[in-house]
Amino acid sequence: MPALCHLALQIVLINILLPIERKAVVARLVIKFGGTSVANVEKIRFAARHVKREFEAGHEICVIVSAMAGTTNQLIKWAKEAAPIHDAREYDAIVASGEQITAGLMAIILSDMGIKARSYSGWQVPIKTDEAHGAARIVDIDAKNLLETMANNMVCVITGFQGIAPSGRVATLGRGGSDTSAVAVAAAINADRCDIYTDVDGVYTSDPRIVPKARRLEKISFEEMLEMASLGAKVLQTRSVELAMAHKVRLAVRSTFDDPDAKQNDFANNDGKILGTLVCDEDEIVEKQIVSGVTMVKGEAKITLRGVKDHPGVAASVFGALADERIIVDMIVQNIADDGKTTDITFTVPDEEYERAIKALKAASDRFEYDAISGSKGSAKISVIGVGMRSHAGVASSMFKALADKGINIQLITTSEIKTSVLIDEEYGELAVRSLHSFYGLDKEEN
Ligand code: ADP
Ligand code: ASP
Ligand code: MG
Repeated sequence: MPALCHLALQIVLINILLPIERKAVVARLVIKFGGTSVANVEKIRFAARHVKREFEAGHEICVIVSAMAGTTNQLIKWAKEAAPIHDAREYDAIVASGEQITAGLMAIILSDMGIKARSYSGWQVPIKTDEAHGAARIVDIDAKNLLETMANNMVCVITGFQGIAPSGRVATLGRGGSDTSAVAVAAAINADRCDIYTDVDGVYTSDPRIVPKARRLEKISFEEMLEMASLGAKVLQTRSVELAMAHKVRLAVRSTFDDPDAKQNDFANNDGKILGTLVCDEDEIVEKQIVSGVTMVKGEAKITLRGVKDHPGVAASVFGALADERIIVDMIVQNIADDGKTTDITFTVPDEEYERAIKALKAASDRFEYDAISGSKGSAKISVIGVGMRSHAGVASSMFKALADKGINIQLITTSEIKTSVLIDEEYGELAVRSLHSFYGLDKEEN
């Protein structure tokens, strides 16, 4: 009992000693911190200062946190060590735990700074998902609890990456899923802004770890960001961009490591300079680039079926066999049947699915006839993306020429309205990305 009294006294004292001055509610914000931003207690304390600045400015706030950097990888490793093939519901029970730790720590640290806060696990909100454990989708969020807590002058700190499936079990949203939790909460509470704080100060024309000359984009359209994310720019999870676009969430990517106490106003600092990158409607972007970004996905395997009997339904049978095994197929090329009877089909799957894909096709050989199956791992998909491609001819051909000039062989090509992708040998991936980045004039000017 005395211990409890002591604790109560301490809490009261903290609140007396550190009164937080707060203006009337100005806006409602979601603030998300990724793994490197909350990698240890000191970093969480630093990140919390951004929350404090926004809270003092009078905003109502939901904070979404990832697990500490490296934690999710470690948890996945343990699950695999326990048994390589395991129940996806138990996998979720394990990997969801990382975010619980950071949510609790963030709530304690905010309280220590004099800001009333409480943590929520996904199921406590509740964030409702479907049953696709390991790659679940959010279907609904009941925002009542969050709105009440914020109305009581408290900050909600919510575990990213997870929710509760209809069966009542914890479900996770796939790697990078905390971005999606943030956007979904922003839509549910009708937030004025969703700020994604990470270890880069915005969305760049290419991954700055691969292209040191990459430039920060002040604005990028939802469509381009969607393509960039799905084609390898892991700065935002693809689904989070889809949701932001569908629900018109104002989304920004910015750096956790910026000075938390610097004066700022909405997305800009006091001089009007945009902090980070704003993901917005295409109409909001005045200077439209033909190419806005270059991306890479490594670890692609290609598989070719030769001499496939060509008749209606054959593609459905081939890809049906892979879909039955839940193998995701990416690029697909089917040749025109030369002799009118047989054709070749080539497609890509992730490297780690290569053996399973070959096995599934061999097992389904009674569903379609073919002469031979071959393939290899270790390709990379390089893509150039830009809304300007809609109105400019020749982007694809100039891309092929730029790669040819570097002696890089193209294995497969796919295009859409605003992107062109090629499959090349993984060994040349970085060279290809840097060459294309320069070729399209995206390199930042040297100081
Ligand atoms: P977090 O842990 O904050 O979610 P991530 O590691 O998931 O952070 O995403 C940030 C990383 O995304 C950056 O460190 C950067 O290397 C990488 N990245 C890839 N492509 C881009 C890009 N076009 N712009 C910015 N960052 C990118
Ligand atoms: N912690 C999860 C991951 O590493 C989710 C996230 O950080 O977005 O994938
Ligand atoms: Mg991430």
